[in-house]
Amino acid sequence: MGKNRNKSKCKGKSNKKRKTSVEQTLALNYVRDWAFPSSRGSGTAAYEEFLPSQALSFASSSAPLVFDLHSHSNHSDGFLSPSDLIERAYKRGVRVLALTDHDTMSGIPEAVKAASRFGIRIIPGVEISALFSPSDAIGASEVVHILAYYSPCGPSRHDELECLLSNIRDGRYIRAKNILDKLKKLKLPVKWERVAQIAGEGVAPGRLHIARAMVDAGHVENIKQAFNKYLYDDGPAYAVGSEPSAEKVVELIRNTGGISALAHPWSVKNPIVVISALSDAGLDALEVYRSDGKVPGFSELADTYGLVKIGGSDFHGKGQKDEAELGSVSLSVTTLYNFLKTSQPIWCNALKDMLLNFSDNPSDSSLEKIMRFAKLRDKSCDVLDACTSWLSDDEKKSMDLEGIRRKLSDHSFCI
Ligand SMILES: [Zn+2]
Ligand SMILES: [Zn+2]
Repeated sequence: MGKNRNKSKCKGKSNKKRKTSVEQTLALNYVRDWAFPSSRGSGTAAYEEFLPSQALSFASSSAPLVFDLHSHSNHSDGFLSPSDLIERAYKRGVRVLALTDHDTMSGIPEAVKAASRFGIRIIPGVEISALFSPSDAIGASEVVHILAYYSPCGPSRHDELECLLSNIRDGRYIRAKNILDKLKKLKLPVKWERVAQIAGEGVAPGRLHIARAMVDAGHVENIKQAFNKYLYDDGPAYAVGSEPSAEKVVELIRNTGGISALAHPWSVKNPIVVISALSDAGLDALEVYRSDGKVPGFSELADTYGLVKIGGSDFHGKGQKDEAELGSVSLSVTTLYNFLKTSQPIWCNALKDMLLNFSDNPSDSSLEKIMRFAKLRDKSCDVLDACTSWLSDDEKKSMDLEGIRRKLSDHSFCI
């Protein structure tokens, strides 16, 4: 009975349906070609860490296109090293992973190296802590998290980004000490040395590290309880850091060749005010999808402000039963297509800037900037070919690579 009714319904919509399926197929081909670029026939071996060397095997199979655009390693408050994170992502079927540690990109080189072994593509990312203050001064300021996504060659003005990130990380040490002072007053003393030990050498401490130290000290039963009772935003042991303004962060991401997205808007107190102001500042995307589906209202907000809809697991490896697993957020082909179509021209321009700077000043140190996140395996391979191996032929044509190549012709650069 149901079958017949469906049949007659489909007839009336057959043209529309055909159009949709053509668009879907084009989107699928684009995303697949991007995720498994070696299927284009460009060399793979020499560019091992720019493109995954095993990609060909996935491209020839009907591997599902699982992207995860939000994850953390132990370079911030995640529990796993970048290598272990990649291995876990691979086992969970993830084929493209954005590593988005808090306020640092220091885990990216290790992630890229590990990913090349598993045939996974890495999108170099970072989740930047920022302070949003309403312009009309009505309502309180609040800390928001803004995700930045870059090309395989990273930010075009890395020093500028790194300066901003290192200031935030410095602020985290002061903030952690202020939280410990508050805990002491609450008769819940936690040793600084223990927090620093949990965070690991050179890692700026965050609330998650302090929560783990609180569990160790027996003050709470688990991390969740530490947050729910003491460490939540504006909670009894909460302290602010020294975050830059959210608008400034969005602008900086664009100026350094990245695309920006507001992370987990459902945990923002005044999402409409924040999204509206950050859209004016140039925000590109909004997290809308979670492992438990869509959160009502945010998809509509993304439509209203013309933002690309994305999502990711925000996996930390906490080992809690209710933590969203890597790859557990289902992103449609259309979602991935829209994300890549927005990102690729921005990334392409950023790379062009980097290559032009490099050709004006072809020194080993300026080469290192382009090779920050990836290494050439083959010493004889061409730097320009390697750096542009992730671009389509049309994108390469638009970059006037020959002009850059001519400028560099007197120099021989290999790592
Ligand atoms: Zn976050
Ligand atoms: Zn996160």
